Amino acid sequence: MVERSIFFHGLLESKAGKRYALIMSRTDPRLFIEPDEIIYQPGQKIPLSAGQAHYLGKVMRLAPGQGVVVFNGRDGEWQGEIVTLQKNKGTLILRTCLRQQQETQGVELLFAPLKRDATELVIRMGTELGVTRFRPVITARTNTHRLNLERLSLIAQEAAEQCERLDVPSIMPLEPLAAVLARWPQRHRLAVALERQGEGIVSSQCDALLIGPEGGFSEDEVRRLRGHEAVVSFSLGSQILRADTAACAGLAQIYTARLMGKAL
Ligand code: SAM
Repeated sequence: MVERSIFFHGLLESKAGKRYALIMSRTDPRLFIEPDEIIYQPGQKIPLSAGQAHYLGKVMRLAPGQGVVVFNGRDGEWQGEIVTLQKNKGTLILRTCLRQQQETQGVELLFAPLKRDATELVIRMGTELGVTRFRPVITARTNTHRLNLERLSLIAQEAAEQCERLDVPSIMPLEPLAAVLARWPQRHRLAVALERQGEGIVSSQCDALLIGPEGGFSEDEVRRLRGHEAVVSFSLGSQILRADTAACAGLAQIYTARLMGKAL
């Protein structure tokens, strides 16, 4: 749950740009609400969880009548208004739809779990850079086999609220890389970061990115990866990056390449 405070500097001249600027200059908090059977429409009431009521009332010090921006990953982004707010519960009413739902145009990220802080960084930055699904995998040299999926999901949710995504990426349970590769479809292009032996830069056309553990992939894994029809290896340059840095660098390259493709 994050406060939005973005100042627009008049860069967008179009009608849509001006409307967007108007929307973006608000400081209303932005909340992700788990999707349920309630369909978003003007006048629809939305119940708040105890955590959301606490955040809006005690942390943000908001009161009935004040605005909140909400999204559920399915029905777009909506301007809401607080109707009731108590210690453990509350209600919002939806006013207008600010943005229609759009699929995030990103990639799936396969990565070997790292130390806690590094894994959390990968989830936060990956969410900002458009990861659609995180798939932690056990490799020969993975030394962390425990993940707090609940905490990682919360980090992804907060990053999505902050960066103004319209959805929250999912985080899959940990499983062996070999099992993932065994069922990986050939048409689903998997870009694998290989230090010292990857070829070229990452393709912005790939569907997924795989980053190895701190100790790198084993020789056997490299051989199997190279033999897989969906795999294309790539390099991040001559310097050996930490795994969390490598994940963010690869994702940032794809993100930028896709942005530039859109601008052309
Ligand atoms: N321990 C390994 C070594 O020294 O050879 C380095 C592993 S690196 C810290 C962790 C992962 O980041 C690698 O498995 C790879 O996926 C990715 N990586 C790091 N630097 C890279 C580079 N320059 N090019 C491609 N991938 C890189």
